Amino acid sequence: SIPLSFFAGIGGASREGILVKGSNYLETLAQTRYVVFDKTGTMTQGVFEVSGVHHNEMEEARLLEYAALAESASSHPISKSLQKAYGKAIDRSRVTDIEEISGNGVTAKIDGIPVAAGNAKLMERLGIPYKECHHVGTVVHMAVNGAYAGHILISDLLKPNAKEAITSLKHAGIEKTVMLTGDSKKVADQVAKELGIGEVYSELLPADKVSKVEELLKEKNAKAKLVFVGDGINDAPVLSRADIGIAMGALGSDAAIEAADVVLMDDDPLKISKAIRIARKCMRIVY
Ligand code: ADP
Ligand code: MG
Repeated sequence: SIPLSFFAGIGGASREGILVKGSNYLETLAQTRYVVFDKTGTMTQGVFEVSGVHHNEMEEARLLEYAALAESASSHPISKSLQKAYGKAIDRSRVTDIEEISGNGVTAKIDGIPVAAGNAKLMERLGIPYKECHHVGTVVHMAVNGAYAGHILISDLLKPNAKEAITSLKHAGIEKTVMLTGDSKKVADQVAKELGIGEVYSELLPADKVSKVEELLKEKNAKAKLVFVGDGINDAPVLSRADIGIAMGALGSDAAIEAADVVLMDDDPLKISKAIRIARKCMRIVY
């Protein structure tokens, strides 16, 4: 039978907007020593602002239009921000052959012309020489008709509680905080430094995130547990691989909420340490 205090623990958590899917997760949560995060949508708001369009020969408005059209089927926060910056309705009849390459970007045909929008890795994959960008920000490189056409610089903001979330995990005695991201090293290092996250791995594909979590699982003491926190845009596999997967509920995808063991209803990263504290308190009552 399930001890009563587990019900109290789950109830207490849910009043804080922390949905715990089963009492066994409270037991695991209480033993958390490693907390591993995704960046976009987890530590950052995942709401990008277009901060500049830098082009080769193509007109700025045209480059943005190509980006918005090529991204029109993507639910990635980058896509949403490009749609907003474009500001016009998308004429879907102009877009065909849309392909989203997870952790890289998108390719499509616009008016029959091949267009690619994504990071440096996407350009490398397509064999398109691109210009390095020296700004700090997430870069969407654009290729049109097989040639480099310029880039769009966008930036994200930290969540208001992100820094406090890390501090409170340290106060709770968490041994290690790690950030994993598909974004560039430059952006990743800056965010990690601002938040005080000790370890950071960047330019990872979704599968690389799984391998990284597996390495960390091996490295730690077997009794110590590892939590992964993500917004779920292509991190459902990592959420299930960790000892505990925590998903952002408001911004997160259905797949992430499904794959997660714990869901934070309001996307507040400060609730991570709160969940651990509730779980520990509950276990002290059980034993
Ligand atoms: P994170 O690990 O920060 O959550 P993702 O794995 O979703 O990021 O994406 C990693 C990187 O891949 C992004 O920073 C971006 O450079 C690129 N990318 C992914 N999806 C898109 C897209 N739809 N359009 C443009 N770039 C994208
Ligand atoms: Mg993500």
